[in-house]
Amino acid sequence: GIFGKTRVNSKGLNMNIAAQAQPFFAQIKAFHQHQWQGGPLIDGEIRHRGEAQAVSSPFDSRTTVGQVHFSHEDEIEEALVRATAAFPHWDAQPVATRAAAIERLADLLEDNEAELIALCTREAGKGLQDGIDEIREAVDFCRYYAVQAREMMSTPTRLPGPTGERNELMLQGRGTFLCISPWNFPLAIFLGQVVAALVTGNSVIAKPAEQTNLVAFRATELAHQAGIPGDVLQLLPGRGAEIGPRLTNDERISGICFTGSTATAKRINRSLAAREGAIVPLIAETGGQNAMLVDSTSLPEQVITDVVHSAFQSAGQRCSALRVLYVQDDVADRVLTLLKGAMAELHVGLPAQYKTDVGPVIDANARANLQAHIDRICQQGRLIAQTPLSDDCTHGHFVAPTAVEIDHIDQLEQEHFGPILHVIRYRAAELEQVIAQINGTGFGLTFGIHSRNEGSALKVAHAINAGNAYINRNQIGAVVGVQPFGGQGLSGTGPKAGGPHYLTRFITEKTISNNI
Ligand code: GLU
Repeated sequence: GIFGKTRVNSKGLNMNIAAQAQPFFAQIKAFHQHQWQGGPLIDGEIRHRGEAQAVSSPFDSRTTVGQVHFSHEDEIEEALVRATAAFPHWDAQPVATRAAAIERLADLLEDNEAELIALCTREAGKGLQDGIDEIREAVDFCRYYAVQAREMMSTPTRLPGPTGERNELMLQGRGTFLCISPWNFPLAIFLGQVVAALVTGNSVIAKPAEQTNLVAFRATELAHQAGIPGDVLQLLPGRGAEIGPRLTNDERISGICFTGSTATAKRINRSLAAREGAIVPLIAETGGQNAMLVDSTSLPEQVITDVVHSAFQSAGQRCSALRVLYVQDDVADRVLTLLKGAMAELHVGLPAQYKTDVGPVIDANARANLQAHIDRICQQGRLIAQTPLSDDCTHGHFVAPTAVEIDHIDQLEQEHFGPILHVIRYRAAELEQVIAQINGTGFGLTFGIHSRNEGSALKVAHAINAGNAYINRNQIGAVVGVQPFGGQGLSGTGPKAGGPHYLTRFITEKTISNNI
């Protein structure tokens, strides 16, 4: 079955158990100073022709993590030629062969956990717990999609027909998939896209986020070590603005899987529409303007734990993160007092320290944009609380976690991808307007509601356009096979990562009617 028997989710690491935490800290030490090298991986080999870039840490721009080479035009062309040639062979393999390689990759991710977590911390500024969760999710995607692919693709479906005719429906890969992934889940989303495309028979060209090329490079090396041929999976690092259009406009790309901004998804869609050749699908997972509603029957202490977690974990750099908290006016003062108290307890600092709750944002540009938004919105609204930065934050891209009360969701003209929570008071009689306002943003990713009135909570959860609705809990950290994750409207084309229908987006169907 989909959820069970053959597959269990990875357990990750429990840092409260000394027998797990101590060896982990011993292992990760080896990578504190390590310098990684990355670049295009074409036919299994690293190439060096393109411009080299030093990679620095978001938490301290003075420290380097290594160096990456961007892709040269000749390398891009070679990757496309090889990927096109590799596809039919890979697609013709039994699905069991492809799935077994993906499962070996999951094992290799676990074997290399300490290095990968160190890399996530140093290149992406991920906290330790985020790093642990990231590896676990990547492992789960591998094992989940391997099981799914075997179930769906092992044997063609026999269909009824007239006597003498044999009708069969087969599932196949589409060709060469282009996977464009974000920096906020440099391993989990990178590999989630890539393994979904690979296991269903596609060859893959992966273009990782500019900020996290080294994580993607190590993951690709491990995939090759696991048995994915070098021409079936190739990596092309580069500047999104240059290499993105180069690849999306190329007729040899038969499908695109993209996670990133709504604006970029639309740009890709337009370039696909204008392109010569086949009509190809775009799988897009984009941003959100995610709301949570807190009514007067809710338990304030639980609300606060879940709000802080949803808004500030990963420094708010999840597309699922809570951005707009609606609190019913009867309980608003009490909730905001508790929120203030909870935010005063947060530690903002170095991601590799286990005491840190909020680490850096990804780069100087992100920091400047978030800071400008905070300055503007605090002038328009009323500051509730702002957690001070610790002394360790001097040389990194840190943004102080901020909660601000505003009047209307329309004051947020776009998604603000960082540790900023906007709070709006509402009266019980305004519930319908609140639902209309949230839906009026056009986004539809996550939604949360806190209430002890189950009937009303469910009614609201159904009325909000959101791909993932959460009742009386936090609204981030969807678990593979448990909370299939993905949005609609401005938030994406609707596939659910880690869900039973995801792989169908990567395949073509073929009906053979045999009347021999
Ligand atoms: N799946 C993640 C979560 O539920 C979010 C993914 C993203 O930020 O793109 O928190």
